[in-house]
Amino acid sequence: MESYDVVIIGGGPAGLTAGIYVARARLKVVLLEGAFPGGNAAITDRIDNYPGFPFGISGPDLMNRFREQAERFGLEIRVAEVTRLEVDGGTARVITTAGDYSARVVIIASGARRQELGVPGEAEFTGRGVSYCATCDGPFFENRVVAVIGGGDSAVEEAIYLTSFARKVYLIHRRDKLRANRAAQEKALANPRIEFRFNRVVERFEGKDSLRNLVLLNTQSGEVERLAVEGVFVSIGMKAASDFLGGLLETRDGYIITDADMNTSVPGVLAAGDIRYKLTRQVATAVGDGATAGIQAVRLCEDMLQGM
Ligand code: NAP
Repeated sequence: MESYDVVIIGGGPAGLTAGIYVARARLKVVLLEGAFPGGNAAITDRIDNYPGFPFGISGPDLMNRFREQAERFGLEIRVAEVTRLEVDGGTARVITTAGDYSARVVIIASGARRQELGVPGEAEFTGRGVSYCATCDGPFFENRVVAVIGGGDSAVEEAIYLTSFARKVYLIHRRDKLRANRAAQEKALANPRIEFRFNRVVERFEGKDSLRNLVLLNTQSGEVERLAVEGVFVSIGMKAASDFLGGLLETRDGYIITDADMNTSVPGVLAAGDIRYKLTRQVATAVGDGATAGIQAVRLCEDMLQGM
């Protein structure tokens, strides 16, 4: 088992920012990331509201910059899927698919993943028409008809993004009001390639080898409608990536509860970014969390070393 002062779980904006602070303080630190480096920001086409980039920046570019900066301070980054976290007598043990790590302090920045709808046909057509990532799969739908499910920032921004490939994009929302920010709403409403279907829920996905139809229920009239689409992007929110905790920390709906310094219910374990129980999930707020957690981790390590 390898020993570190600090182990950071997750390589999105929160984890990489924490890494910058801890590595710059010259502690021994490793960041463990899963299959998708850069987190959700890295699969976001454009980020327009992160300060310092007056004309916006692509998600992958922004996350590459975070990474380069962290590596300049000597942050070690490894690919490893964390399967369990244990804490025993002030030392944490991070169990992964690529070996175990011990740490004085652990920062959990594992973020959140896309939520599934859970309707018939969804699992069957995932990867064959049903997708959870417009930036990853959008280019496959050049000149086709697609749909986006959801009414939040992600759904509306993805619908706009998809109009650069698709001939037509249906935006399907379960209510008659969008949740997305006003700027995105106005842009989507003004886009002639986006057709809105409000008060509709997805009943099922239909097809043969690949997706052909989306079956919708109109919640007002009770009518069932069948839309011919080749692609559907499910964008109905996130679920916490916290299964590996197995009840170790205090959580709510799977999200970790912290205080203002990012301490969790277990001493020496901090959490930052989208995995925290909170209202706002932005790159800018994840960066703030990451900086706070990084500083707090350094403080805790120094306290432990002084107490030795
Ligand atoms: P979100 O804000 O939670 O929105 C989820 C949307 O999906 C809501 O419109 C919700 O409907 C709908 N929905 C939820 N469950 C559903 C179901 N079972 N069937 C049909 N529709 C369902 O999620 P998000 O858009 O993925 O965003 C996640 C977080 O990232 C948010 O905090 C968001 O602000 C942030 N974000 C920000 C930006 C930006 O600032 N530019 C971009 C992307 C994401 P209701 O409205 O009826 O609840």
